[in-house]
Amino acid sequence: DEELLRIEGLCTRFFTENGQVNAVENLDLTIDEGEVMGIVGESGSGKSVTALSLIDLVESPGRITDGRIWFRAPDIADELIESGADDEVTDGDFVDLRKLSEEQRRSLRGSRFSTIFQDPMSSFNPSITVGEQIAEAVEVQRRARANPRSLDAKAQRYGLGDYVLSTVLPSKKYVTGASRDRAVELLELVGIPDPVERADEYPHEYSGGMLQRAMIAQALAGEPEVLVADEPTTALDVTIQAQILDLLSKLQAETGMTILLITHNLGVIARMCDRVGVMYAGEIVERGTLEDVFDHPVHPYTRGLLGSVPDLEGAGGRLQPIPGNVPSLLDHEMPDRCYFADRCPKAMDECLEHPPAFDVEGSEYHTTKCYLATTEYTEEKALPDGYF
Ligand code: SF4
Ligand code: MG
Repeated sequence: DEELLRIEGLCTRFFTENGQVNAVENLDLTIDEGEVMGIVGESGSGKSVTALSLIDLVESPGRITDGRIWFRAPDIADELIESGADDEVTDGDFVDLRKLSEEQRRSLRGSRFSTIFQDPMSSFNPSITVGEQIAEAVEVQRRARANPRSLDAKAQRYGLGDYVLSTVLPSKKYVTGASRDRAVELLELVGIPDPVERADEYPHEYSGGMLQRAMIAQALAGEPEVLVADEPTTALDVTIQAQILDLLSKLQAETGMTILLITHNLGVIARMCDRVGVMYAGEIVERGTLEDVFDHPVHPYTRGLLGSVPDLEGAGGRLQPIPGNVPSLLDHEMPDRCYFADRCPKAMDECLEHPPAFDVEGSEYHTTKCYLATTEYTEEKALPDGYF
């Protein structure tokens, strides 16, 4: 499949009173068009910051300090080349999102990138009906497509889980009948029963699962190419979780959109993803296809996480606690060795001397930051039958 996103050497840092926090460290990841890419890791491993970096929503005191985020967008690339942009900004059909102007970046939000989060309440204004808010999102995206300069920065964040629009465009006169009809269609698409009636209800009249569906409808308002879903089902009970994941799979199949799914839940990864990156202390420490990572894990951290697999059902797929903690990520406390060494049962002398680089011999995409990748360590981890 064709690459849609290529992240190279991404570093995102937070400049705090206590020092510099390296939340995302030299991250490399490619995402193909139409695939579901997962990022899994413990909390504090940098997954959410990776998502925010991708959609350009890292807030002060954080910022992206290094790296390239190449996004395949031939139309924008052409425009840039015509206007004389150099090859720092474009690479064939790809554009480096970090090199675009603020206005160009804004115009991508909602229309090409959209997001859903764990807490749908944060996406909706409690005092405006659900249908109205989705209609507004549709309207904003329609206007933004027609004229990227038509809306200010605040309004264009809409579709990214904020309900700022309602305060920016409070007047119903902005919402046309067509947008309202589209909102009802979107509610129907995400499986809201009686969408015409439900469109006129307020967020508190929806159950948690229904509101999650409505948030997805809102995120789809601009027909995005990429949906970044950060723990989209974590707050839901197991049955509803499964329904929402099925909905995302169905929408993905119907629209061909690309999904970056961030979760701490291996069961969610196994159910949804084509490929997966395992994140630890701001780095992807292992990545590969689902089969690579689940059937042939190399990194002891991945293997530790997969230790939870036999208990997956009972534990709700939660990660196995591995003794010890993720390092603080404070720059001056980051050890000059493998970040996992303090917790690693396989640590060797070389692990304490230098941080490992990516390598898995004999595999094109499967790769890991661990010295074991280059040793004889090929023992396979058996998974329970019917796991996939
Ligand atoms: Fe463990 Fe060494 Fe691999 Fe780090 S590099 S995960 S310490 S074996
Ligand atoms: Mg998070």
